[in-house]
Amino acid sequence: MGNDRYRRQILVKEFGSNAQKLLSESSIVIVGGGGLGSNSANILVRMGIGTIDIIDKDTIDITNLHRTSLFTQEDIGKSKAVVLEERLQAINPEVRVKGINQNVTKDNIETFLKKADVIVDGTDSIPLRHLINTVSIQNDIPWVYAGVYGTIGMTMGILPKKTPCFQCISQNIPESTTGETPVLGSLPPTIASIQCNETIKVLLGKQLAGLIIYDVWNQCFDVMSIQRNPHCPICGKMEKNLSKGRIL
Ligand SMILES: [Zn+2]
Repeated sequence: MGNDRYRRQILVKEFGSNAQKLLSESSIVIVGGGGLGSNSANILVRMGIGTIDIIDKDTIDITNLHRTSLFTQEDIGKSKAVVLEERLQAINPEVRVKGINQNVTKDNIETFLKKADVIVDGTDSIPLRHLINTVSIQNDIPWVYAGVYGTIGMTMGILPKKTPCFQCISQNIPESTTGETPVLGSLPPTIASIQCNETIKVLLGKQLAGLIIYDVWNQCFDVMSIQRNPHCPICGKMEKNLSKGRIL
């Protein structure tokens, strides 16, 4: 790590050489390698994360190209996970990159996520986010939610039993829609960038912002401070049972 690659980043007073070292020792898993996941992977690999796994079973489609990072027209039909591993490793050989060409299911999710220091949300599925949330709370692994629709995106870092979990904030999250989701091409890179900052702040133990909402078209930025729901069936129940000495 003693090279010039991160010199300009280390100069940032909020970051510095200690943060760079901590980042290089950290392991993240990104679930989904599309609009959000590919952009977040690109940023985190360039910034010097230590280890990154990206899980996605999809192949690259022409409809992905307007909002993703690192894919070209020649990649259409290839595995997202395989192409991302190749490109990311070429961008930064110091990072351990693994592309996993599999679907994440309730049977295998724990195997994929349990070694992560932080889980990064790159999915477009509300049920899968609830699954990530449950694994996060049960295994005490932070995760950073992100979602995009049209011109509006949201992201929030979730620290198990410290911040609200995804279930606690679910009334603030738009429902899944049927059919194709509209997404402006400039939106996922912007939200991924904010998501990466929150991810790094989780790794460094810094104060998180809350539920960040950004409309890239109207330039409206908002941060909602949401309280934990003491009756949350995911983080509330765990807390209650842990306090009784019973671990679910
Ligand atoms: Zn909760």
